[in-house]
Amino acid sequence: METSEKTSCPKCGGDLESKGLNIEEDSFAFEQCSGCYGLLIPAGVTRKLKANWGPDTNIDTGSETIGKKYDKVDDIQCLKCNTPMDKIEDPEQPHIWYESCPSCGSSFYDAGELKDLNEKSFTDLLKRFTKGTRK
Ligand SMILES: [Zn+2]
Ligand SMILES: [Zn+2]
Repeated sequence: METSEKTSCPKCGGDLESKGLNIEEDSFAFEQCSGCYGLLIPAGVTRKLKANWGPDTNIDTGSETIGKKYDKVDDIQCLKCNTPMDKIEDPEQPHIWYESCPSCGSSFYDAGELKDLNEKSFTDLLKRFTKGTRK
């Protein structure tokens, strides 16, 4: 028997699809909404993604325009444990807000947010490298 556990997106009510991603030798599971392309990322994976961001790990495939629309929906519950999620401001990039579960640590990113978060970090990293080579 097939176990197809359908979870609805807390933002738009669309279906969440379970997906997998390999970073180095580890594999991670995350969920992406087929409606608004929001991403539910388990605790710890965001950091891994940040450290290994590139074309192969870019799972944020949704349109930023759609993401912006659903960014306004901020009263959501964690899909994993039903705890109301906190709205978190990224300390490095205060214009990015995402939802984080205070209980299990899962985060929900609207389409475009994760990309924004990581591409900025990547540029910062490059800047740091450039500074490091100066004599
Ligand atoms: Zn959705
Ligand atoms: Zn949770």
